[in-house]
Amino acid sequence: MPIRLLSPEVASQIAAGEVVERPASVVKELVENALDAGARSIVVKVEEAGRRSIEVADDGCGIPADELRLAVSRHATSKLASAKDLFSIVTLGFRGEALASIASVSRLTLTSRVAGAESGARIRVEGGAERGVERCGAAVGTVVRVEDLFYNVPARLKFLKSDVTERRAIDTFLARYALAYPSVRFELVEGKNVTLQTPGDGDRRAILATLYGVETARQMLDVLAEEDGLRLSGFISPTSITRSNRREMTFFINGRWVQDVPLNAALTQAYHTLLMVGRYPLAMLFLEMDAAAVDVNVHPAKAEVRFREQERVFGFVQRAVRRALLAYTPVPSVPPATLWGNRASAEAREPGLDWKMAGEAGGQLSGDRDQLSVSSVQPSGGREQVAVNQKGVSAEGEQRLVHLPLLRLVGQVGAAYLVAEGPDGLYLIDQHAAHERVLFEKLMLQRAKQVIPSQALLEPVSVTLPPAQARLLDGQLDVLHRFGFEVEAFGPHTYQVRAMPVLFAGSDAAAALRALVEDFEEDEMPLQQEVEARIAARVCKRLAVKAGQALSGEEQRALLNDLERCTSPRTCPHGRPTMIHLSVDMLERQFGRKGPR
Ligand code: ADP
Ligand code: MG
Repeated sequence: MPIRLLSPEVASQIAAGEVVERPASVVKELVENALDAGARSIVVKVEEAGRRSIEVADDGCGIPADELRLAVSRHATSKLASAKDLFSIVTLGFRGEALASIASVSRLTLTSRVAGAESGARIRVEGGAERGVERCGAAVGTVVRVEDLFYNVPARLKFLKSDVTERRAIDTFLARYALAYPSVRFELVEGKNVTLQTPGDGDRRAILATLYGVETARQMLDVLAEEDGLRLSGFISPTSITRSNRREMTFFINGRWVQDVPLNAALTQAYHTLLMVGRYPLAMLFLEMDAAAVDVNVHPAKAEVRFREQERVFGFVQRAVRRALLAYTPVPSVPPATLWGNRASAEAREPGLDWKMAGEAGGQLSGDRDQLSVSSVQPSGGREQVAVNQKGVSAEGEQRLVHLPLLRLVGQVGAAYLVAEGPDGLYLIDQHAAHERVLFEKLMLQRAKQVIPSQALLEPVSVTLPPAQARLLDGQLDVLHRFGFEVEAFGPHTYQVRAMPVLFAGSDAAAALRALVEDFEEDEMPLQQEVEARIAARVCKRLAVKAGQALSGEEQRALLNDLERCTSPRTCPHGRPTMIHLSVDMLERQFGRKGPR
C-alpha cells in the first residue's frame, strides 16, 4: 500500500486509545477536569458500568458559551500557555485532549455555565463530529454526559471486562480521589444506588473506612514527614495487615494518582524484613513537592512521573514510612481466649486489642537523631555501641526505635523455645526465628561497615546447581563476595565454596550456597540494597539454629543477649514474630486475681 495521511477521524481514534481505555478512564478525565475547575462537589452517575452512560456534574468555574467548541477540540486547553509551563504543572490536566478523545469515541454532551452568565450553553459531539451548540438553562458549573462509549470502535468494546470489573475500576478510582481530596464532596451513583458518598469535611480517616472497612481503617498508621520542600502524608498498614499483591499501594503526587511509581520500591523496602515474603502493605500516600521537581508529561494518561531528584525523594519516602512503622511495631500478646479456649470472651473482643503497641509493652524506647545505634557484643562480653548511618533506617527528627526490655532467661522448652522473664511478664521466644533475626542484623551491620570477616574453609566444598541457577549465579559472584563468601566456578554448573563469613563458621557451606542462589531469579527490585537484604535473610534463615536443637545454657543466654540488641527484635527477617508476650496483667486475669475486662 502507498503511504497515506490518516483521516482526522482515524487519527483521533488512535490518539483516543491512549487516553480512553475503559469507562473508568472517562470518569478519571472528567473528575480531574472538575477538580481543576475548583469544584467543591462532584457527582458521578454511571449506568451499566459506564457502557450505557457516564455523567459527571460539578459546581466548578464552568466554561463560557463561546469556548465550548474549543473545549472539545484537540490540543485546546486553558491550563497551559507555553512549552515552558510544561515544567511546572499545577493542574491535573494540561494536554488538552481528554474531552476531544472521549468525544471521538462516544456521544458527548457538555452543558456549562459560568458565574454571572445569563444562561448556560450546551454542545453535542457524536463520534468526533460536532452536532451544534445551543443556549439552555443550567446551574453554575459543568455537566458532561458520555453515552454509548466505544459505539463506533467495536474492537475496544470487546476488550472491556465484565461489568463487575469495570465497575470496580470506577469505584476504586473514585474512592482514591475522594481520599486525596477530602474537602471535596464526592458522590457516586451506579444505576439507582449511591455507592460512595463523602461529606467533603476534610476528614480522611472516615473516607479510609469506605475504602478498606472500619476495622482496617482504625488500624492504619499515620505518616507525616517534611523535609526540604518534600512533604509526605497519608496512611500505611501495620505489619499485621497485608495483601498478596501491590495493588493497594497508592501514591498521589501533587494531587495526582500515579500508578507506575518508582516509589513502590521505596515503600516495600521500608517494610523489608517486617513482612513475610510475598506479602505487601496497604498504603495511601500523598507526596507533595515543587511542581518543577517532577515531570508529569511522560505518559498520555499521566499515570507515570519522573522526579528530578529521584534518589532524594526515594530515600525520603522510605525513611518516613520506616519511621512511622517502627514507632508502632507491635509485639503480639496472646489473648487468653486462644490460650485457654475461652470462646465467648474471644468473640467479644476486637482483634485489634490483641496487639499491644510497642510503646505500652514495657520496652525501652530509645530516640536517636540521624543515627541508629546498634550494639554488638565484644569477645570480652562488654558492649560496644556502634553508630551506623544505615541508609533507609536512619532519619532526621525524632526516631523511635523499639528495643526489647532486659530479659532474664528462665530456660528452654521443647528444644525450640526460650522462656524469659521481663519487667512486664513472660516472653516465649522462638529460638529459630530469634537466631535468624540476630544473624541477619549482624550480617547487614557488617555489610554496612564494608567488613564482613570471612574465613577460609579447611576443605573447599563443591556444589552442583541446576543450569538455570548456575547461569544466574555467574552474574552474581561478586554479590556473594561482598557477603564474605568466596565462590569459584569449578566445571559445568559446579562451584566451589572456599570461604564463608566468620558469622556462619561451622555451618554447612553447601546449604549456604544453595540458599544464596535460591531465588535469584525472583528478585524484582532493581535495587542492589534490596536484593542483598533478601539474599542475606535467606541465608540466615537456612543457617539459624533449628527448632529441636538443644542449646546449652550459655548459648541460650547469648542468643537472648543478641536479640535484645537487635533493632527489630520482634520479628524474623521474613516477618514472623520471634516472640510471644504473656503480660503480668493477662496472667493475673487468668488466675482470677483481677476481674475480666
Ligand atoms: P485539559 O484538562 O488537559 O486542559 P480537556 O480536554 O480535559 O483538557 O479539557 C479542555 C478544557 O476544557 C480545559 O482546559 C478547561 O478549560 C475546560 N474544561 C473541561 N472540563 C471542565 C470543567 N468540568 N469545568 C470547567 N472547565 C472545564
Ligand atoms: Mg482534562
